[in-house]
Amino acid sequence: EALLGTFNRQRPVVNYPKRADGKILYPTEIFNENVFSLKVMAKSLPKPVFASFLKQRRGRQNLDKYTADAIAHAVRVWAMDRGASHFTHWFQPQNGTTAEKHDGFLTLIGVSLPTGEEAVPIDAFSGSQLLQSEPDASSFPSGGLRTTFEARGYTIWDTSCPMFIQAGPHGTNILYIPSVFISYDGVALDEKTILLRSNEVVSSATLELLSVLESDSHYNHISNTLGVEQEFFVVDRSLYSLRPDLKITGRTLIGSLPPRHQQLEDHYFGRMPSRVLEMLSEFELEALKVGIPLKTRHNEVGPAQFEIAPSFEESSIAVDHNLLTMEILHKVSHRHGLRVLFHEKPFKGVNGSGKHCNWSLSTDRGENLLDPTARPENNYRFLITLLAVLKGINDYGALLRAAIACLANEHRLGAHEAPPGILSVFLGAQLTEALDSIEENRPIKNFSVPQFQSIQVGGTMLDLKVAPLPAISRDLTDRNRTSPFAFTGNKFEFRALGSKQSPSFSVAMINSIVAAAMYDITARLKQAMGSKPKLSIEDKLQVIRELITETKNVRFEGDGYNDSWVNEASKRGLLNIKNSPQAFSCLNKEYMRDMLTKKVGVFQKGELESRFIILHERYVKDLLIEGNTLTSIINQRILPAAFKYRKTLADSVIALKSISGDSSPEESILNSLSPVVVGLLNATKTLETNVKKIEQQAPHTADAIEKLSYDANECIFNAIEEVRAYTDNLETLIWIKKYNGNISTIKNTVE
Ligand code: ADP
Ligand code: MG
Repeated sequence: EALLGTFNRQRPVVNYPKRADGKILYPTEIFNENVFSLKVMAKSLPKPVFASFLKQRRGRQNLDKYTADAIAHAVRVWAMDRGASHFTHWFQPQNGTTAEKHDGFLTLIGVSLPTGEEAVPIDAFSGSQLLQSEPDASSFPSGGLRTTFEARGYTIWDTSCPMFIQAGPHGTNILYIPSVFISYDGVALDEKTILLRSNEVVSSATLELLSVLESDSHYNHISNTLGVEQEFFVVDRSLYSLRPDLKITGRTLIGSLPPRHQQLEDHYFGRMPSRVLEMLSEFELEALKVGIPLKTRHNEVGPAQFEIAPSFEESSIAVDHNLLTMEILHKVSHRHGLRVLFHEKPFKGVNGSGKHCNWSLSTDRGENLLDPTARPENNYRFLITLLAVLKGINDYGALLRAAIACLANEHRLGAHEAPPGILSVFLGAQLTEALDSIEENRPIKNFSVPQFQSIQVGGTMLDLKVAPLPAISRDLTDRNRTSPFAFTGNKFEFRALGSKQSPSFSVAMINSIVAAAMYDITARLKQAMGSKPKLSIEDKLQVIRELITETKNVRFEGDGYNDSWVNEASKRGLLNIKNSPQAFSCLNKEYMRDMLTKKVGVFQKGELESRFIILHERYVKDLLIEGNTLTSIINQRILPAAFKYRKTLADSVIALKSISGDSSPEESILNSLSPVVVGLLNATKTLETNVKKIEQQAPHTADAIEKLSYDANECIFNAIEEVRAYTDNLETLIWIKKYNGNISTIKNTVE
């Protein structure tokens, strides 16, 4: 039935918005249609109210009651005109998803009037309702920060991100208010508060650095910019529904590799299956309306794997938009009878999915601080920013490793398809030469300056030696897909994030380690300056040279998938963190804690401890869910099928023997089947025992929780793989009814 469903499925009709003359609207006309943008605010608010909002947004004043009330009124009218019946504070608790609770605009006034008159229903939305709301916080992960009886939590409007409407049921809409989530005493319970703090910190650290480096510097704010590439698989919904492992854990826990998967390398950038293209096109329509500036879509390496990417934005907005992207994709794919898999490794043996975070710093005049311009070797602002990133990773790289750790990503990292667990930075040959020449105090080789000046943004001219083709400029950096952190022309690309993870924590960590490095660099520059009014070129070069030497260890230009890198990295003293518990533990190292809580202060001490606990706890829970899912699939589906087949074979052997026929073919299969079934049974028992052992513990201290996550990793992770090895072997020997193998769920089913 499921298979038939995939053949007979009705393609949904998407009414792409058109003009009266039937022509399709331009994307620019659809973009932001459902966003209460600054432009809409400017139009719908009294001038002084709008001005006061902008001031608050730039951090120069608080939002007063009058302004808040006026904005609340304007946004309610705007939203209700577009069919909104409810509003919600939309926030990002530490469970990897977003949260919302809907409130209606309908309000009764005059309920207990002494006159006995009837209460009057009105549509209302006050400034205080806009500013904050109070969901019960007791059921969100808090890592021991609150007990149930102190359940007060507050969601507070994050004015840096615009409000928007999204479809509710029956053609109604819901007004979304991007918010942070904090406790009664102001402790962050969410991802966003930490990200916003890190934005402020990296901004002020950069401003301070620039003010010393450039005596005429006069900026007010530095933004960190983020462009998120998102990978995912798409499978047919009815085949998906046949797989309890996919449904419960997000990945297939069993399933052997089919004879044809990705060996032919025919999927990357191939033509998209039409069902997927139709779904993505509707998704893009929805995404544009809420202001997600989508740019690219293409087939990825794995069968039925795809990637989309928007233009970059300020990071807090880009994070909101990435989370929205995943939600909208999920919703729209449902309408198309498809299921999007965001898991990092849904299918063993084919590539997993990642999320690439492209990050840079931009001044309030729109200048990218990581833009090398024509002469990177003379561009001190660029060099110092670049070196601050290198120094951040050199000093605190483990924090980035901690930020990307989770059970699902463990299947991907270091699997020769995704960056290894060692954090190094790739700069490309030309930038490497620029740094080497400065360090060695010699003229620059390799790329000559005149050529650089001949084109706009840098890069040498590439002669293709094909007459009708124009000469084109080559990027300043080549590509190295094996590096977890690569300089890609005018930004860094952090590639180790898992596809399902929110970019929030990772970006907060990048901002934090860069800010910490910048504080140090500023101090050194000040020291070099001494009592002089400004830095000389030699002063700058001296500090730059020191930094180049100091951060050399984290630079790696070679193949990160090569085993020799593991040895080389260990010689250099770089950490090679193999599993998530080890990675989380880095958060608790004194050196890291001091940086995060004191030096840059993006975390309070309790917040960091609670995150440490939440991450370890989550890891254990994820492993237990996988362990329990797998044992039930084996016990309920796989073993019964194996036993039945064995019985059929045994009956045949007896029957054939009784008529003195040749039973050797059946016997031989029976003989090869038996040890696999016995092995599977034993491996499953071991898994069950180990799962119980972990499940029975209820640790109360941070140390005990940490220990439990190491134990769980040790006794469940490999036990699951062991069971899979037997089942996948079994799958090649028998047909298991009610179970469709690994990749039959994908590729051809979405075409
Ligand atoms: P690639 O495949 O080379 O990584 P993509 O086009 O898929 O390139 O993605 C590049 C991403 O980097 C886009 O989201 C783009 O907007 C983003 N990006 C470009 N410049 C910056 C910048 N200065 N800061 C942050 N992100 C950027
Ligand atoms: Mg990329």
